[in-house]
Amino acid sequence: MRKYIIMGPQGSGKGTQAKLLAQAFDLSHISMGEIFRWHLANQTKLAARIQHCMTSGRLVPDDTVEEVVRTRLDLHDWNHGFVLDGFPRTAPQARFFLESYDVDAVILLVVREEVVKKRILGRRLCEKCGEDFNIHFSPPKAEGVCDTCGGLLVAREDDTAEAIDLRLSEYRAKTEPIIEMFRNKERVIDVLAEGDSYSVHQEIIQELEREV
Ligand SMILES: [Zn+2]
Repeated sequence: MRKYIIMGPQGSGKGTQAKLLAQAFDLSHISMGEIFRWHLANQTKLAARIQHCMTSGRLVPDDTVEEVVRTRLDLHDWNHGFVLDGFPRTAPQARFFLESYDVDAVILLVVREEVVKKRILGRRLCEKCGEDFNIHFSPPKAEGVCDTCGGLLVAREDDTAEAIDLRLSEYRAKTEPIIEMFRNKERVIDVLAEGDSYSVHQEIIQELEREV
């Protein structure tokens, strides 16, 4: 059983790294972003509460997040373990988690803020098929057009400079302190995550396999 939490600011590649890590060890990838989007798509009771936060760049309230995480982990579909991505984001969420569960390692993706901003502002999504591009790192062959289906490429509604600044300041104020909290209780692995996703993944695996 392997239980990991992956942390880092928005744009640090958490989702990609969580996915790669889950594939490598056959773990369940539990992404808060995906769970929230599922609630929105299915217009559940929680959807309205989540919607407001996601478009304004604010954090979803702790009680909502805790409810979602508990419900998700109670499914117990994680025989080999899990990778949590997008949780915890605040001290109360971290305390809630540590009271009920334990982890083998917290993986912290370290990326400078200017790099994060450039990555996020460069993101484009195909309107038709949902394929991701980045005008700086993985540009489409023709500007503004999807390579796969010819659809129009657009920025996500919440990828504005204002929303990014707000998310980064929420991260500094609320998430960074809990990383220090984890350092006292859990194994925290710092990984510089400014390179390509495959080499970052390799480094994570190497660090995890290192004897403590
Ligand atoms: Zn497309």
